[in-house]
Amino acid sequence: MQPALLPRFIVLLGPPGVGKGTQAALLEKALGIPHLAYGDLFRDAIQRKTELGCLAKGYIDKGELVPDEVTIAMVRQRLAEPDCQRGAILDGFPRTIEQAEALEAALAEEGKAINVVLYIKASEETLLARLAGRWTCRRCGAVYHSLFDPPKEAGKCDRCGGELYQRPDDTPETQRRRIQVYLAQTAPLIDYYRRKGLLVEIDGEGSIEEVQAELMRAIEASRRQIGDEPEAK
Ligand code: ADP
Ligand code: ADP
Ligand code: ZN
Repeated sequence: MQPALLPRFIVLLGPPGVGKGTQAALLEKALGIPHLAYGDLFRDAIQRKTELGCLAKGYIDKGELVPDEVTIAMVRQRLAEPDCQRGAILDGFPRTIEQAEALEAALAEEGKAINVVLYIKASEETLLARLAGRWTCRRCGAVYHSLFDPPKEAGKCDRCGGELYQRPDDTPETQRRRIQVYLAQTAPLIDYYRRKGLLVEIDGEGSIEEVQAELMRAIEASRRQIGDEPEAK
């Protein structure tokens, strides 16, 4: 049996297309804590045509951020669920300083805190090449790349057999807009978390396996730093 771990809250920060979702799915398996993918939650709400989905769609299609009050309420609710009590991998949240402050407050209410913020970096050229070949599973949200990480069978998800599609917000114009929005609204979080001593910079240019190994090393190091070694059962 895996040794139990203390609660661990890990934030993945980085521009669109750098590989946050891909890496978070691998970390979920390695660490046994849930991957909270905010883009997936919105896409799911859009598919189910819920009130949240209708509201979010207009923003997502343009490459803009969904308003903070909506996103923050959603995160608070998700973090209160039982599977998040031991920790979570936050992918795509926070994306603004206001969201970061709300996250800190929500965790503090339960005596919890972010343990480490992993900032994955890559050049704009790399981001655009990754976004251009991204295929996503309609059913489970798994991500593939037509060249760098192809599914075994074209158009079909290896994990669940679902249909793969290219996201409507992965058009060249929307991709550029998302990168601009990231630079204006999300990039300030880099300094914000650096000042708090939580930031670890990760080179995102390598292969999926190389980036994963670097992330795991950073997580291990942060665990030793806070004296959070795996507990023996
Ligand atoms: P990517 O993987 O390309 O970075 P995501 O799938 O994480 O994109 O997010 C897709 C869209 O969902 C974003 O462009 C934005 O409109 C919305 N979104 C996701 N997370 C947030 C957030 N924390 N705050 C506001 N909007 C968000
Ligand atoms: P994000 O969640 O940061 O927007 P994704 O995880 O969706 O990024 O990855 C964007 C695209 O790049 C996907 O098609 C994915 O398969 C691919 N990808 C992710 N990491 C790498 C990597 N290290 N090398 C090459 N392609 C990658
Ligand atoms: Zn799938």
